[in-house]
Amino acid sequence: MKSYDLIILGGGLAGMSAAVEAGEQGLNILLLEKQDELGGSTVLSSGYMAFAGTDMQEKAGIIDSTESLLADMTEVGGRINNQTLIAEYGRHQLETYQWLVDHDVEFRSLEAVSGHSVPRGHIIDPHQAIQSLYKRVKQLANVTIYFNAPAKRLLKNAEGRINTVLYEADGEVKKAIASKGILIASGGFAKSEELLSQFAPQLKGALRIGGAGNQGDGIRMAWEHGAWVKDLPYLNGTYGFHPSAAGKLKSQGLAFYKGAIMVNQLGKRFVNESISYKLLGKAAFDQPEQISYQVWDQTVMDKGVLDDPLYDFELLKKRRLLYKADNLEELADCIDVPVEVLEETISRYNQGVQNGEDPDFGRKTLTHNYGKPTALEKAPFYAFESTVAMLATYAGVSVNANAQVVNPYGEPIPGLYAAGEVTGGFHGAGYMTGSSLGKAAVFGRIAVQAAVSENAVV
Ligand SMILES: Cc1cc2nc3c(=O)[nH]c(=O)nc-3n(C[C@H](O)[C@H](O)[C@H](O)COP(=O)(O)OP(=O)(O)OC[C@H]3O[C@@H](n4cnc5c(N)ncnc54)[C@H](O)[C@@H]3O)c2cc1C
Repeated sequence: MKSYDLIILGGGLAGMSAAVEAGEQGLNILLLEKQDELGGSTVLSSGYMAFAGTDMQEKAGIIDSTESLLADMTEVGGRINNQTLIAEYGRHQLETYQWLVDHDVEFRSLEAVSGHSVPRGHIIDPHQAIQSLYKRVKQLANVTIYFNAPAKRLLKNAEGRINTVLYEADGEVKKAIASKGILIASGGFAKSEELLSQFAPQLKGALRIGGAGNQGDGIRMAWEHGAWVKDLPYLNGTYGFHPSAAGKLKSQGLAFYKGAIMVNQLGKRFVNESISYKLLGKAAFDQPEQISYQVWDQTVMDKGVLDDPLYDFELLKKRRLLYKADNLEELADCIDVPVEVLEETISRYNQGVQNGEDPDFGRKTLTHNYGKPTALEKAPFYAFESTVAMLATYAGVSVNANAQVVNPYGEPIPGLYAAGEVTGGFHGAGYMTGSSLGKAAVFGRIAVQAAVSENAVV
C-alpha cells in the first residue's frame, strides 16, 4: 500500500488548486480523478469568479472592497450563511486571485452578475485555468495524478483518524494511505438522479448540466464518517438556459440582468427580474406549464457582450435560439402569447421605468444593487425561451474555516478535509455568481495549509 502526505479526491478547481499548493509546499501528493480527464463541472462553467479590490477593477475604475463583497454575499445568502467561512473567504480572496494570476490563469474581463453591487465577476476560461494548473502539477515530481481512479470509501486508523482511501483502478480495489489528511474535492451531485430526487425533488423538471463524475460520492464518503451537512433545503436551479441546452454547448443568456423582462405563456411578468437567477428559476417553475420567456428590445440587445458566456446575445441569435420581430404583435405571435396582454405588460413596465417605480414587482436595478433598467421600446424585439438547469449543488458537507469536515456538533473529523462544491454552509439560502469557483480555489488551498499545520501522524 502506497503512502502519501495528502490525498486529494477530484481534479476540478478545488482539487487542482490544492494539488498545486501542496506540491509547491513539497508535500507528497496523490490526486485521484474519477474520469479520464480533469475539470469536472469547472470546465463546463461560465468562468465567473467573485473577487473584490483587484487590479482589473481598479483599471476599470470600479470601487470595490472585501467588506462590500462579504456584505453582498451575506445578504444574498439570506444572512444564514456561515459567517466564519465568509470571513475566511474575505481574508483569502484577493491573495487567491493573485495566486491564480501568478499561476498563469488568465482573467479576461469583468461583469456584474447575480448578487453583485458592482461588476466583480472576474471571467476566466475554465479550460485554460485547469490546464495552467495541470501544467504546473506536471512540473512537480511530488504530485501524482491517477485518472479513471474513483475513490470509493474512506477508512479510519486505530486512533480514529481518517487516513485511508479505497479506490478503483484497472478493475481492482486499491488502498492508499495519507499521513496529513484526505481532502474531498469531488464536486457536487448535479449528475446523480438518486441524490437529486432525495434532496431536491422540486427540481424534477430542471435540465441537468454538470461534470459527468459529479454524483455526490464525496458526500456519501464523508457522511459515512459522521459529517454534518448544510444548505440542502435551499437548492435551486439556475434560470436562463434554452430548453435545448446540454453540457458543453453554450445556450445560456441572462438578458434580464441587462434589462430584459420575463413573461409567462399568458404574456404576464411574474417576478422582479433583478433577483438571483436561482430565485428566478424557482419563480419560473411556478408558471403555467413551467414555460417562460425573456423579452427584450434592441437597446438591451446592444448591451450584449461578444464572447461572454452569459451575455453574448448575438451568439444566441446565430444559433437560432432567439425569436426576433419588428413589433410586439409579431413577437407575441412567435411565442404564442396573447398580443394585448404582452402589449399591456410592456407598456406598464415601461411606465414604471419612466416613473422610477415598478408597481408590480418593485424592480429598481438590473441585477442586485447594480444598474438602471431601461424602457423596452426600441424595435426590433426579441424573445428567448428559458428554463432552469441544475448545474451546481452548492450544498453538502459542513466544514470549518480550516476546511476540516465537522460532525453535527461542529467538531472536526480527524484527518478529513473538504473544499469546493462538495461543501455546504458557505452560500446559505441564496447564491452569488462567481462564489462557487471562488470558494473552490480559496478553500482548496486553505485545506492544504491547515493539513500541513495540523502536522498529524498516521
Ligand atoms: C454550466 C455551469 C456554469 C457554471 N458557472 C459558474 C460560474 O460562472 N461561476 C461559478 O462560481 N460557478 C459556476 N458554476 C459552478 C462551478 O463550476 C462549480 O461549483 C465548481 O467548478 C466546482 O469545483 P469543484 O472543484 O468543487 O468540483 P468539479 O470542478 O466538479 O470537480 C470535481 C471533480 O471530482 C471528480 N470526482 C467526483 N467523484 C469522484 C471520486 N469518487 N473520486 C475521484 N474523483 C471524483 C469529478 O470527476 C470532477 O473532476 C457553473 C457550473 C456549471 C455546470
